[in-house]
Amino acid sequence: MAVTFDTSEMLIGGTWCRPTDTLPMEDPSTGETVGAIARGRAADIDAAVTAAQAALAGPWGRMAAAERGRLLARMGHMVEAQVEDLARMEAMDVGKPLRQARADALALARYLEFYGGAADKVHGQTIPYLDGYTVYTMRQPHGVTGHIVPWNYPMQIIGRSVGAALAMGNACVLKPAEEACLTALAFARIAEEAGVPPGALNVVPGLGSEAGAALAGHPDVHHISFTGSVATGARVQAAAAENVVPVTLELGGKSPQIVFDDSDLDDALPFLVNAGIQNAGQTCSAASRILVQRGVLEEVTARMADRYRALRVGPAVEDLDVGPVISARQKAIIEGFLDQAGDLTVVAQGQVVGTGGHYVAPTLLTGARPDHPLAQQEVFGPVQVILPFEDEAEAIAIANGTDYGLVAGVWTRDGARQMRLARDLKAGQVFINNYGAGGGVELPFGGVGKSGHGREKGFEALYGFSQTKTVAARHG
Ligand code: NAD
Repeated sequence: MAVTFDTSEMLIGGTWCRPTDTLPMEDPSTGETVGAIARGRAADIDAAVTAAQAALAGPWGRMAAAERGRLLARMGHMVEAQVEDLARMEAMDVGKPLRQARADALALARYLEFYGGAADKVHGQTIPYLDGYTVYTMRQPHGVTGHIVPWNYPMQIIGRSVGAALAMGNACVLKPAEEACLTALAFARIAEEAGVPPGALNVVPGLGSEAGAALAGHPDVHHISFTGSVATGARVQAAAAENVVPVTLELGGKSPQIVFDDSDLDDALPFLVNAGIQNAGQTCSAASRILVQRGVLEEVTARMADRYRALRVGPAVEDLDVGPVISARQKAIIEGFLDQAGDLTVVAQGQVVGTGGHYVAPTLLTGARPDHPLAQQEVFGPVQVILPFEDEAEAIAIANGTDYGLVAGVWTRDGARQMRLARDLKAGQVFINNYGAGGGVELPFGGVGKSGHGREKGFEALYGFSQTKTVAARHG
């Protein structure tokens, strides 16, 4: 689609500003530079934080929760009316097939609808206490919240993090990823048009080492929501710790789907493959490990292989099964992992039909031990490894045997086993006889271990983006 705004601007305090410098914007489907984005610097982040403080001191800080909710709901309707445009923008910027980008735009609308509806429904408590006291709690915003977002699902991550933060009355500074920031800018325009007051939402694109680091370490930011890699997350947490600022970290994963002998394979098969190749495998909750009980190992491997051979990889706008990966760098990382495959067996690969862009053939592997790097480390590409297991205990041991713990899927008809696995799997979300539950705006999401801490999505995010104040009144 034709992008109808200047992509190299930043929104600070209600004004679209020109940066001192720009960064190239690349289309991963062609590898060509198609425009420029702002290279925001520490001074721009500083201006955005000042603008956010001013918003909190002005009408935004005094706005009724119901009115904030109305603004978010209005934004949701506006997003819904522009799904096609937003999807085309995201498809070009990220390289994801159009229908996946459409689903992301609809998810953004749904986050805004959900958090719009929830804004006035987070209530405090009254607490029975000593004779002569009235004690109550209230939920208050942190103040200025920083949002550092990756390139793989910009719309969804902005929806779940900025949507929840605005609902609770925070003023946000959003630093989108340098690889894909178009929909963050479009989101800011929608917020403006919906009537969100100046400074309540500021968007400063730029490099992680410049704008990102400046935001994470800014002394006047009161909460940081970070989604990205483990290494950067640790740096962000360390920077925020200097200012004693709370951090939500949504990091990577090496998530398993576990297929027992008694599962409904017809039902499971599409989920097994889709969860590995969606967004070219560049999904934090990608099911990159498929654990299969020995009795169905041969059948699952053969049927997944059939699906892999049918996969076609090409430009985002052609809406094939898989698009390009985000960059030449990401492609090199994935190929580096595949070079380490050693004696693993490539069971099947998809077919690359696109040319010029950053295309990687989806690859299904077997023969790995659970401690192999390809079964332990996040590839962040369309690569899945099949790992066999004998019984439930071994399945749990393998599933829990990585540093990560984001999500897990379990396929079995045995109800008691479903409950045991839900209890014992090391993951922030467990899906039984499904994977992903259709996105689940309402479902708290986040990791354990190296997958991070804190929860976004659902009502939990509203608690994360606010804090409790206790008021104890002694009146006799
Ligand atoms: P990344 O950590 O390189 O970048 C993420 C964001 O952090 C970008 O906006 C980047 O500019 C910024 N950044 C980089 N260096 C920074 C610094 N020193 N200080 C502050 N900000 C900095 O991650 P990526 O490669 O863009 O994304 C891929 C990773 O994100 C994967 O590991 C993936 O699993 C993870 N991820 C997790 C989730 C989740 O919800 N758990 C969702 C999407 C992606």
